[in-house]
Amino acid sequence: MTTGTYRMTWPITDPRATLDTIIGQAQHDLAEALDAEGLVRCGIAEWRITNQRGPRLTAIVPVSGITDDDVPLPPRELQPHGTHAAFARHKAQGTAPCLACTEGERAYQRARKRRGRLATALRQEVAS
Ligand SMILES: [Zn+2]
Repeated sequence: MTTGTYRMTWPITDPRATLDTIIGQAQHDLAEALDAEGLVRCGIAEWRITNQRGPRLTAIVPVSGITDDDVPLPPRELQPHGTHAAFARHKAQGTAPCLACTEGERAYQRARKRRGRLATALRQEVAS
């Protein structure tokens, strides 16, 4: 039997949710995902709060039954116009952003500061 680590990430969308609630739900999802993949948890999960396009909770769990290479990556889909990714795509391709992307980017930048503050608060809660 081989061992490896399994990662799972959740976006934190409700700023009023407590860390206990968030991790409780995540543990439920994690158990289901490991079950579906035929993996067995063989150690303590590490929980991390990151801020990538908003606060996210990541679990890093030692598992047996697989190697890291066996864990499939989720497919990458192109984000639609009106998103930060699409705005960045316009820039990368040297085209002027469309109206949807211009407005989407404005909203994204406005929300960024708010998400950063939330992530900082949650990170401090995890650390304490
Ligand atoms: Zn666009």
